[in-house]
Amino acid sequence: MTARAEIVVDLDAVRHNVRLLSDLVEPAGLMVVVKADGYGHGMVPVGRAAREAGADWLGVATLDEALALRAAGDEGRLLCWLAVPGENYAAALAGDVDVTAYTLAELDEIAAAVTDRAARVQLKVDTGLSRGGATVADWPGLVARARELEGAGTIAVTGIWSHIACSDDPDHPANEAQEAVFREALAVAEEAGLDPEVTHLANSAGAILRPSSRFGLVRCGLAAYGLDPAPGQPDTSALGLRPAMSARATLALSKPIHAGAGVSYGHTWVAEHDTTVGLVPAGYGDGVPRHASNRAEVWISGRRRPLRGRVCMDQVVVDLDGELPAPGTDVVLFGSGDDGEPTAQEWAEACETISYEIVTRIGGRFAHRYVGAAP
Ligand SMILES: *Cc1c(COP(=O)(O)O)cnc(C)c1O
Repeated sequence: MTARAEIVVDLDAVRHNVRLLSDLVEPAGLMVVVKADGYGHGMVPVGRAAREAGADWLGVATLDEALALRAAGDEGRLLCWLAVPGENYAAALAGDVDVTAYTLAELDEIAAAVTDRAARVQLKVDTGLSRGGATVADWPGLVARARELEGAGTIAVTGIWSHIACSDDPDHPANEAQEAVFREALAVAEEAGLDPEVTHLANSAGAILRPSSRFGLVRCGLAAYGLDPAPGQPDTSALGLRPAMSARATLALSKPIHAGAGVSYGHTWVAEHDTTVGLVPAGYGDGVPRHASNRAEVWISGRRRPLRGRVCMDQVVVDLDGELPAPGTDVVLFGSGDDGEPTAQEWAEACETISYEIVTRIGGRFAHRYVGAAP
């Protein structure tokens, strides 16, 4: 039976992208970021495919995500970076997860959870994103305390890292400035006696577009899924990344409508001529952005078909331009683009957002299917 609506993930494409990125950034290592359910692709299968293709590390935002990977059998190096007070650091220790500390309070909380084995901790410095991480003013105090705990055998500082604000615009002066602050922070840490295994700053766009931002390790999310982290920058489109996700549905109905007929809630689109429309059984309840109303396109029977009227909770109407493909016909919302179907990037442009949001939000009642068997 064909699914009503499903997300098809090509794990071969993930492995291809991971190998390509890994070769590109050598001698730096590669962390594949699989937070937010692997950007909507499925954290566990994508994490496994990334490991198979040689990812040195996996990265996630929350400790819960890290523990879910461990519960699914993942055993490699694994970093998480977004904690709140009261986090279950004992579970992180038991699961051999590297955790991140931004503050003295976090360091002390981590240290308090240690029983026998030293906790693996990475320190994050805010080099200019003004999001997570220690301020430059607090950095010397944080590294001093970390060194003290390391000397006592309570923690091992495995990494020092930061995150870039403008990596999709490689010539933006913030990039140079952040790299300089990062280098200074590394010098302060070295001075304090820290000698971490890894230092890292770049995400996908930085890793691809600014070799100077690679340091010892890069953290790639979007590019590992085959999407372009810096649309409009030729270096990224020329790389040969392959989009791993297709979102497809099964056409529920097709029928004629007359000139003057209003379509969907609010009649925001009215047929100028007699035409035919199709009913696609996925809506904003499944993560199809309502902002795509009257803007995005889908692929049916070898042609692009525009969305007409508002995206509803469970369904969308598309213009079939006089054709009547049978219910059961395949509908591709977005995919690799290889056959002419729209891509997640095109949906992003139609919705005035980024492809990150398109793939991460699609889900809801979509089934997940994986193709591209393990090697
Ligand atoms: C999400 C995230 C990444 C991955 O970013 P991409 O642009 O998808 O490569 C890297 N580092 C941190 C801290 C992140 O939160």
